[in-house]
Amino acid sequence: GSSFANLPDAAVDEIFALNHAYIADAHPKKVNLGIGVYRTAEGKPWPLSSVQKIEEQLSRENDAARHEYLPIEGDTVFTKAARDLMFGFSLDAETPAEKAAKQRIASVQTVAGTGANHIGAAFLAHHYKPKHVWVSTPTWANHHTIWDLQGIERKGYPYFNAETCAFDFENAIATLEAEAEEGDVILLHACAHNPTGVDPTKEQWKAIAELCQRKHIFPFFDSAYQGFASGSLEEDAWAVQYFFNMEPRMEMCVAQSFSKNFGLYGHRTGAFHLITNGSNPAEVGLIEKNLCHIIRGEYSMGPKFGSTIVKRVLADPTLRAQWHDDLAVMSSRLIQMRQALYQELLRLKTPGTWEHIVNQIGMFSYTGLTPGQILAMKEEFHIYLLKSGRISISGLSPTNFAYVAQSIDNVVR
Ligand code: PMP
Repeated sequence: GSSFANLPDAAVDEIFALNHAYIADAHPKKVNLGIGVYRTAEGKPWPLSSVQKIEEQLSRENDAARHEYLPIEGDTVFTKAARDLMFGFSLDAETPAEKAAKQRIASVQTVAGTGANHIGAAFLAHHYKPKHVWVSTPTWANHHTIWDLQGIERKGYPYFNAETCAFDFENAIATLEAEAEEGDVILLHACAHNPTGVDPTKEQWKAIAELCQRKHIFPFFDSAYQGFASGSLEEDAWAVQYFFNMEPRMEMCVAQSFSKNFGLYGHRTGAFHLITNGSNPAEVGLIEKNLCHIIRGEYSMGPKFGSTIVKRVLADPTLRAQWHDDLAVMSSRLIQMRQALYQELLRLKTPGTWEHIVNQIGMFSYTGLTPGQILAMKEEFHIYLLKSGRISISGLSPTNFAYVAQSIDNVVR
């Protein structure tokens, strides 16, 4: 007999399955509100202008070493620049305070944000041994998979208030106060929470930080949208930097993705940073060695092309300014599309309240549509969104938002 006939049925990734269904649909008005990738007003992928500059440089240089291996820890010029961006250090000069702060941080290059989440989970599962990992309800579905694969028991803290379509701060805090145990890990979305688009306010972040510090809960930040959410790199990293700068110092970590903010999705560009409390300076080197041990055993090292592009953009003040403009192009188009959809729903007098579409931030909005309505959107109108009611705002354009609004209006009536 065969050995694999009785394998359990593994879950199919909903987002990628939906994308296949969209591609196979021949309807001329079809709309893809599923996958979280940036699209232009014409519905096309958009290579960033700053990124294209580096691609041109690289092809002119025709460097014979361009396909060589990276070190196991990755390109350290890249990981340092990534770190400086995340923690708000100056990219050009270094103050003595910054120098000291950097000595708390162990960094390695990863296979984008997913790989950073994975390396972090694997490292903590081996060397920190949390009893539980707390994830928001709901969260990015891959958080479940990544932590389940490490065998760490998952618990959920309330996050989304379905009545207000806002952050359920009181219930989140109450649950964590009552149930989180010392040494647990809590997964926090640095900004532009996926899938809800709802972030804590600064005051709420401060309360979460205080709780983590007091109860000795280990913050694990997932930062996939820095600069992409608000257009401001500082604003989108506020929570990470607040936790990092707290006294007494907390141990924490950050999984950092460059997929969205550089448009480098397929080039798998990211970093993982583990922050010590600084009490033992020798610790950082040891942490990096152990991270490298895991990386070597799993895939040897991260890929080179994306990290080369990011490090070169970040090293050059002119290109960096151009990148900031690129971020503004993407984030402002998404903010405009939120407005357009919202205004059209108001104009149609669509039953229900829709302010949350403009109050939410980033790539996604949790619409509050029900499973029946979501099915009708797909079957009747060829509009594809996740079963949870999450829509990717980047699938909206000046030519389709009215059709989407009209379809929502139809299915909710
Ligand atoms: N975390 C979150 C919350 C995300 O939304 C994403 C992108 N979908 C990622 C991590 C990682 O994406 P990638 O691996 O492409 O960098």
